[in-house]
This record gives sequence, C-alpha cells and structure tokens, in this order.
Amino acid sequence: MTRVFNFSPGPATLPESVLRKAAEEMLDWHGSGMSVMEMSHRGKEFISIHAEAESLVRELMGVPANYKVLFMQGGAIGENAIVPMNLIGKTGKADYIVTGDWSKKSLKEAKTYGTINTAATGPNTSIPKQSDWKLDPEASYVHICSNETIGGVEFHWTPETGNVPLVADMSSNIMSRPIDVSKYGLIYAGAQKNMGPSGLTIVIVRDDLMGHALPITPSAFNYQLQAENDSMFNTPPTYAIYIAGLVFNHIKATGGLAAMEAHNKAKAAVLYDYLDESKFFSNPVAKEDRSLMNVPFKLKDDALDDTFLKGAQAKGMIQLKGHRSVGGMRASIYNAMPIEGVKALVAYMKEFEAQHG
Ligand SMILES: *Cc1c(COP(=O)(O)O)cnc(C)c1O
Repeated sequence: MTRVFNFSPGPATLPESVLRKAAEEMLDWHGSGMSVMEMSHRGKEFISIHAEAESLVRELMGVPANYKVLFMQGGAIGENAIVPMNLIGKTGKADYIVTGDWSKKSLKEAKTYGTINTAATGPNTSIPKQSDWKLDPEASYVHICSNETIGGVEFHWTPETGNVPLVADMSSNIMSRPIDVSKYGLIYAGAQKNMGPSGLTIVIVRDDLMGHALPITPSAFNYQLQAENDSMFNTPPTYAIYIAGLVFNHIKATGGLAAMEAHNKAKAAVLYDYLDESKFFSNPVAKEDRSLMNVPFKLKDDALDDTFLKGAQAKGMIQLKGHRSVGGMRASIYNAMPIEGVKALVAYMKEFEAQHG
C-alpha cells in the first residue's frame, strides 16, 4: 500500500492513525457486533460516541458553558442560509465582510433573508483593516470567513464588534490553532477540511442567539430545536461524527490546538520561505494575512502548469491544481498534512525551478 501526499482543499487528507483505527473497528465497534454505520443514533453505543465527540470539541476549543455545540448537516454552504434564517430576525439586518470567494457566497445567499450591508470588501490578497469597515450598530450580526480557502487569506486577529455578535465561517481553519470562542457569537464549519469526512457541519452558538429564527426556518435547521434535542431532531451524520471524534482524540493526544498551531506554522514557513526566495514561483498574498492552511502559488510561466502537476503526481503529490477562479497551484496543508509532505513539495519545486527557471 502506498499513500500519497494529498494537498486537496477538501475533502482533505486525514491522519493515517485515524483511518487505521476506523478500519480496525469497521465490523465490530467495541464488541457491539456492529459497525458504527449500522447503529441506531438513539442507541447507547452511538449516544456515547456522540457525547464524547461533543465533549472533545468543548475541551479542545475551550467552548464556554453558555454555548451549544451542534452537529448538523448541510455544510457551510447550507449555513450560508441557515445562519441568517436563525439570527437575522432580531433587527432584519446583518453586516458581511468580503475577503474572497467564500465570504462573497455567504453574502449573496444571506440577501434572501434580510437587508445585508457589505461592511468591507478586500482585494482577495489581504484582509481589510477593521478601521476601514463600515459596521452598522443595528446589525443582528457581523459575518466573516476566518480563512478564505481559495484565495489563501486568513484572519490572524479577531475583529471587535462590541455588542453585535461576530459570526465566522471557520470551515478551513477550525482547530488549526487555539481561539477565544467567547469573542464569537457563532462559529460554523464543514468537517471535511480539518475534522473528518464531509456530511457533518459543526455549529458553536451562544445560547442567547437562539430562539429568534424566522418562521420560514425548516425545523431541521432551527438551532434552538436542534439544541433542545441534542442535535438529534433528525438523524445526525453518525459515521462522520464518529470519524470526527477519532480525529479529535488524535489532536488531543498530539498536544491539542497549541501543538497544532506550532506544527502548522512550521509547515507553512517551509513553503512560504521558499516561495519568497524563488524567482520562479510566487504567492500574491500580503505577508501578515497569509493562510497557514491554503497556499496558492503561481509558476512564472503558466504554460508549464500541466508539466508541474504531472511531475508532482509522479512523485505521489496530488491535488495541487489551483481553483479555477485563481489558476496556478494551491497546496492545502491542513492539520493532517505531515511536514514531510510540505518538505517533499518544496524539494520538487526547487528541482522544477532549476530545470525550468
Ligand atoms: C469548503 C468551504 C465551504 C463549502 O463547504 P460545503 O461543505 O461544500 O458546504 C464554505 N466555506 C469555506 C471557508 C470552505 O472552505
């Protein structure tokens, strides 16, 4: 068996030890005689898996007691509608900060549910300074995308929004470093970048923000109903929750989010340092706003893109093609990407530059 270095933006690489454990437990989970996939979500076995996964999210991220952790479906794109349906009812208005493709999508979807103010728009290669934002004090919330997966810009600071709750799409950098959850009203993230398989969406929501959903809100997407039913108003994505739980255990055993941050900084530095010294490869993002998770880069001559990708594939490095809206390359180096993968990529890039530069 050979495993590749998978630089996919998502669904993304997972820790090998997690996959091995899942394989071991596939047919018979802890002597139950069943696969987790076959369990009733209301049975004691799955309830224990669910409870452990939730308590690990709370422990790893330091989630305060006045927040609920919900395991939902619909992905972050689903949340683009679910967030406004649940939160915009207070004043009918919300502020959005546009820093790239994903926050632009969130804003567009939210317009169906209320009056949306674009409080700031960045150039896609840096995060606009908060002093330039035009926030509305009557907004029900301020929405940001903490890491733009396509453009590779990331918030390395937390906006101050006073009494207006801050809402963040953290799909592509959740659990990559410690954060202060109490600075946010709501955090949402699809699992398939840093936490597990697709199909699971994690929502962390402050208690007082629930209970104002628009009447059109589908019950399965109503945060308060989900919270009252321990995320079991409808059948939750059971297997995805189980795998995410294994990933959380793995993160805990590796030293928690502080260890993830150190590991992620070291990995990103290997790649960015080379990009900055290279005369052949380049990254367009302002240094202070560069993503530690998604690193877009261009070759000096895009006619060589296919040659570069084929050569990478031959060396067991896959999914490096950039998003079609940006072109070039993108290396996604989430928590589960080992530093060896980044070093192998940089070694190949150096070789390629020597040959074609
Ligand atoms: C991947 C991603 C999404 C889309 O998630 P889906 O699971 O397809 O809904 C949204 N926002 C960000 C920041 C992402 O990285």
